[in-house]
Amino acid sequence: MSTASPRFIQEPARSIPVSAEYDVLVVGGGPSGLTAALAAAEDGLRVGLIESRSFVGGNMTIGLPVLGFLGQKGNQIIDGLPQKFIERLRRERQGASEHRPCPLHMGITLVEPEAVKTVALEMLTEAGVDVLFYTFFAGALVENDTIRGVITESKSGRTAILAKVVIDCSGDADVAYSAGVPTEKGNAEGGMQPPTLMFCLAGVDTDALRLSIANAPPAARTYLTDFIPAEYFGQNHQFIVVGMRELMAKAKAERGLQIPNERTIIITGLKKGEVWINMTRVKGTDGTDARSLTKGEIEGRAQIDDIVTYLVNYVPGFEKAYFTKTAPFLGIRETRRILGQYVMTQEDVLACKHFDDAIAVASYPIDIHRPADDGCTLIWCGDCYDIPYRSLVPQKIGNLLVAGRSISATHEAMGAIRVMATCMAMGEAAGRAAKISVRGNRAPAEIDIEELRRQQLEHGVYLRNPDGTRAGPSNRAAA
Ligand SMILES: Cc1cc2nc3c(=O)[nH]c(=O)nc-3n(C[C@H](O)[C@H](O)[C@H](O)COP(=O)(O)OP(=O)(O)OC[C@H]3O[C@@H](n4cnc5c(N)ncnc54)[C@H](O)[C@@H]3O)c2cc1C
Repeated sequence: MSTASPRFIQEPARSIPVSAEYDVLVVGGGPSGLTAALAAAEDGLRVGLIESRSFVGGNMTIGLPVLGFLGQKGNQIIDGLPQKFIERLRRERQGASEHRPCPLHMGITLVEPEAVKTVALEMLTEAGVDVLFYTFFAGALVENDTIRGVITESKSGRTAILAKVVIDCSGDADVAYSAGVPTEKGNAEGGMQPPTLMFCLAGVDTDALRLSIANAPPAARTYLTDFIPAEYFGQNHQFIVVGMRELMAKAKAERGLQIPNERTIIITGLKKGEVWINMTRVKGTDGTDARSLTKGEIEGRAQIDDIVTYLVNYVPGFEKAYFTKTAPFLGIRETRRILGQYVMTQEDVLACKHFDDAIAVASYPIDIHRPADDGCTLIWCGDCYDIPYRSLVPQKIGNLLVAGRSISATHEAMGAIRVMATCMAMGEAAGRAAKISVRGNRAPAEIDIEELRRQQLEHGVYLRNPDGTRAGPSNRAAA
């Protein structure tokens, strides 16, 4: 790799073909992009979705459970399209679990990555969304603070796609950044949560694992978990283990293992004996930089052998476990966040704040894998907090919306809103807002928020009354 100062060459101007034209274009087919496209297409608009990979689902395909459906008081606080998606996964492919309560994560919904890819694509296709895979967003076409469309790069070369409204669901705010929307990265020092290369083991006796935690005598608990009482594991056969700090420290000391994580994190899969491991950690990676991403993939992969050695030799139930696969890509927790019409803060989350322009309700705690060390910060608010529409509306560009982990929020608030049920809920709101914008011929920032909230309720979205109860039960029954 050259360390010399960058050289530049002039790229000649050229004409590129317009390959498609839509009412609404969604960039990125992860949890937020999927629901954004479905909502935007619900009454017949022409909707396109471009995705750089060969499948939709984003991080929902890397072995993670969906967190965020259940709130801190145990009730379900994400409904609407995300719920319909999970129900269809479960009904048609046995591809999702119930929303299972968890003392640390509030709610866990296990999903099968291959089923996610299939069902999400089926739903998009049935809704008439024009999905284009292998197509990378390469630049925004902006005139007078209006985005006219995007430039894409693919095997077909460089083409333009035009749209009346664009929804940026890239996770990295790629479109917003390219369009000149101000963005931020990381905490006050610029540190971003580290990524993880997820991997999968089979042959695990998950009952032996959970019962070893549940049945250890209280006075001599060897397999201590963080925030999750041991008794929980006696009753739940699908679970996440977080902790076992002493055990891992022992393994590191005895075997000289290099594991840059303080905590053991094991997620049961839907298939018997299968678990996903969320323990590699590559500090200092910038998910918007190809060289840094490559380094992250290399380091993440190099960490796997020591983690497997630890699990197989120290953790109950792993005696016959064997490695099967890595996730299809390095999981990126944090990159850019836009500056929008409102910036959500830690104070908003911890005060369980109500907003007049709420388009979704969330409850996942602030959960920050700290950028500079091997630990994690977790803070619960005790109930739910609203996501305001204004945090999906960027500064500067009138006809652009952003949904998913890169909305307008501080590093701390992003640590809470980043989970996938919440991202799906934001996507649904952005898609519906884009639809209202196109139908009413008004910029997304100018639409009638009450109309958006009314349509959200009609479609079964969970919103709160000022007293905290669920809003619009009659509409919900009809939806
Ligand atoms: C290791 C790890 C563990 C996590 N654990 C959990 C968990 O247990 N449960 C949970 O709910 N959440 C978890 N999260 C958080 C959650 O996965 C993400 O915050 C969430 O998926 C973000 O959704 P999104 O739609 O914004 O982006 P993504 O899921 O990242 O989807 C973005 C999509 O856009 C596409 N894309 C990106 N750039 C371009 C481009 N330029 N052109 C075309 N397409 C593009 C990508 O290919 C991708 O499909 C975890 C995250 C990580 C990394």
